[in-house]
Order: sequence, then structure tokens, then C-alpha cells
Amino acid sequence: MSTKRWLPGTQCITKHDHTKPKAHELAFRKGDIVTIVKVCEQKGWYQAKHHDTGEEGLLSASSVREREAIRVDPKLSLMPWFHGKISGVEAVQALQPPEDGLFLVRESIRHPGDYVLCVSFGKEVIHYRVIYQENQLSIDASISFYNLIDMIEHYMKDQGAICTKLVKPKPKPGMKSAEEELAKAGWLLKLQHLTLGDKIGEGEFGAVLQGDYMGQKVAVKNIKCDVTAQAFLAETAAMTKVRHKNLVRLLGVILHNGLYIVMEYMSKGNLVNFLRTRGRSVLQPKQLIQFALDISQGMDYLESKKLVHRDLAARNILISEENVAKVSDFGLAKVDPKGVDDTKLPVKWTAPEALKNNKFSTKSDVWSYGILLWELFSYGRAPYSKMTLKEVTEMVEKGYRMEAPEECPPSLYTLMKSCWEIDPGKRPSFKKLTEKLQKELKHIGDS
Ligand code: AMP
Repeated sequence: MSTKRWLPGTQCITKHDHTKPKAHELAFRKGDIVTIVKVCEQKGWYQAKHHDTGEEGLLSASSVREREAIRVDPKLSLMPWFHGKISGVEAVQALQPPEDGLFLVRESIRHPGDYVLCVSFGKEVIHYRVIYQENQLSIDASISFYNLIDMIEHYMKDQGAICTKLVKPKPKPGMKSAEEELAKAGWLLKLQHLTLGDKIGEGEFGAVLQGDYMGQKVAVKNIKCDVTAQAFLAETAAMTKVRHKNLVRLLGVILHNGLYIVMEYMSKGNLVNFLRTRGRSVLQPKQLIQFALDISQGMDYLESKKLVHRDLAARNILISEENVAKVSDFGLAKVDPKGVDDTKLPVKWTAPEALKNNKFSTKSDVWSYGILLWELFSYGRAPYSKMTLKEVTEMVEKGYRMEAPEECPPSLYTLMKSCWEIDPGKRPSFKKLTEKLQKELKHIGDS
């Protein structure tokens, strides 16, 4: 039997039915998701909350397994039914043998920019032209959608003006349904349990909203465009691999309105705003060093999982109610080093070898960490504020480095400069940085 102890907050999947619970026990069916609420004194027992019923009760460790990580796999698709540019004849072949409601979507060859929904019905295949107009998709004028995921979701529930409700997607050969894989691994959450609230931030891909998921405060990112949602799947997949007190935790995703990414809520927002709104008079160096330590511990863990962040900066650090700093925004294409769009690189945070030769590594994250330390000890100032991106790139290459922020402890400035060694091999590891910061903190505490 498993002797692993799960921490409160861990989400698990049940291994079998338990429909006749004894008093205080939780009832569940095989494959249900439960959250551990408390470790019981009696060994091997937990207090847990059921995701669908909201009930709380006891369950034994042997009846659940922890959720699995999702592998980053380019074949994992949010739209496995999307076959790209194939002809009508090929679509008919793909939908054999006939089965009412079997469907796929293809790109229209005759009308570039439009799509075609192909549905098997009564031994025939019916082709519906999906018109793309003013950023909206529609089959008949009565209803339109922002993206294909929403359109398919709608016609799976409601037949509307088409011949039959969509029943079964026909996956493109080789493609795996992300929805199925996420559900199997236990990361697919239920829309009906989510309540959305106020907007709390604005990211590159849209608004971040506060929300409630079964009584827990959450932050929700909604990615409406299905191409971006597909790209985001890589970030989400990376987040399913990690669990650490200094990394913002993914609770799960919902496929609706594109993609909802549901994360733990960090009530004090991002580090830049946190520093700017409080400043020197409120925040003591000890608190800053504690943040620096939190972040290096999160990054050390990320390194152990072979993940490179690529966009480490104070704007991507979030602060919890208890003043714990956590790394967020695992960004795009972290595991696959190809396909980096260099127009989007955060130049002032990026190591020279990454800017020049696309060489991203944990050591290029260490460079960015040095810039983050500078932001931290300057209470949220913008780095190299009087220089253009071109000047920064050229000057840094020639050996220029930022001066120490005002009143920055000298030992911390030495640490920053060690992160800015031109030779990545000479920069400290996150483990070493963690050790040094632990000593600094102890030193401050003793003095
Ligand atoms: P992002 O799209 O991740 O860059 O987020 C944009 C902004 O939304 C951040 O700077 C935060 O202010 C806010 N935000 C993002 N994620 C969270 C979260 N988990 N908890 C609280 N606020 C968040």
C-alpha cells in the first residue's frame, strides 16, 4: 500500500467506487477528483473534499492516486477534430464508416479563411461552410462564435440549424485529444463549480480574473483565441509537472470560451507593484532577502525538473497573502528551445548568449535572476531605465553592468554581479544562490 503522505491541497483521483460509505466517510465513484483537506491522526486516512458533490469526508490513502503530469507533446491538441487543409472528398473518406454525429472541421480550399464543418448523418456527409467575418465564426446567421472550440462545444449540446447534434469527434490521424488526456490525468475542472469575479490583472494574452472554485479563491486566465490556447497548453503541461511552495500552483483547466487556466490566488499581486506601492519606508532589507530566497528556491526546484523559465522578472513573481514570493508565468515554448520569437524577448532581462544565439538554459535564468535582484533592491525601478534596448545589448556585451541600487547591501550587489558573468559556466547555480541567501538572512537576524 502507498505510504506516501499527501499535503492538504493535493488533488487526487479515486481508484474505485465507494458508494456505500460508513459514517463520516466520503462517497465517490472511480475516476472522481478529490482534494485532500487534512491528514488524519490515524495513519493512512485523510479528510477530503469531493470536487463534484462538494461533500467532505474520510477516505483511505489506498483508494486514491495523485494526479499525473501531462507530457508536453505537440500531438496533444485542444482541437483533435481539426484536420487542416483537406478536400471535401478526403473529409468524406475520413468520416467512414458512417455514424450519426461523427464530425471533423477542415479549412475551406475554395474560400480561404473560412472553415467547413463536416458531419456524418444518415450515411451521408454534410458540409457546412463556417463563415469568418468581423472576428466571428458562424454557420447560420442566428449565432456566432469567437473560436472553433466554442462553436464545437455549442453544437455538441445544441443541434441548432444543423442536421444533428455533434456526437463524436473524428481525430486527425496521430492527434490526441488534450481534453481526454487532461481528464484522464485529473486536470480538467468543471465549469459549473467556477464563479468568476473581478478583473485583477491584464496579461499579454488577456484579462486575469479573480474567481471561486468550490469555496477556494482562485485566479483565472481566459485565453479566447484557439491558436493561442493551443500554444498555452505547453505552459499548462509544464505546470502539471511542478509542485513547490515557491511556484504558483495550477489547480486545473476548463475548456470553455477557449481555455480557462485556474491557478491559486495570490492576493498581493505582482512583485513590481508590491515594491512600488510600499517602498523603502515599509519594506526592510530582511523582507527583500526573504523574497530573493523564495524565488531562488522556486528556481532551484524548476531546474531539478529540467524546466527553463526564460522570462524571470519581478513582474512574473506574485506575492501571497502571507508574503511568500512565488514564480509564475511559465511562458511559452519552455521545453522546446526552437520557435522562439526574438521580437518578444524581454531584452533587458535576457542573458547575452540567449539574445545572440538563442542559448537558453538555467544559467540564462540565473542572469535574469540577477536583474530581478536589482529590481528588488531598487524597490521596483525599471532596469537600465535611460538606455534603449539596442544600447543595452551592445553595452552589456562590452562589459557594462548596472550600478548597485541605492543603499543596497554590498554582499547582495556582489551576488547580482556574479549572475552577470559573461561566461554562463561562471555564474552560480540556484542551489548556491539559495545557500548564500540563507546565510545573509541568518546574518541579518543575528545582527
Ligand atoms: P500574467 O498574464 O500572468 O502576466 O498576469 C497579469 C497580472 O495578473 C499579474 O501581473 C498579476 O497582477 C495578475 N495575476 C496573474 N496571476 C495571478 C494570480 N495567480 N493571483 C493573483 N493575481 C494574478
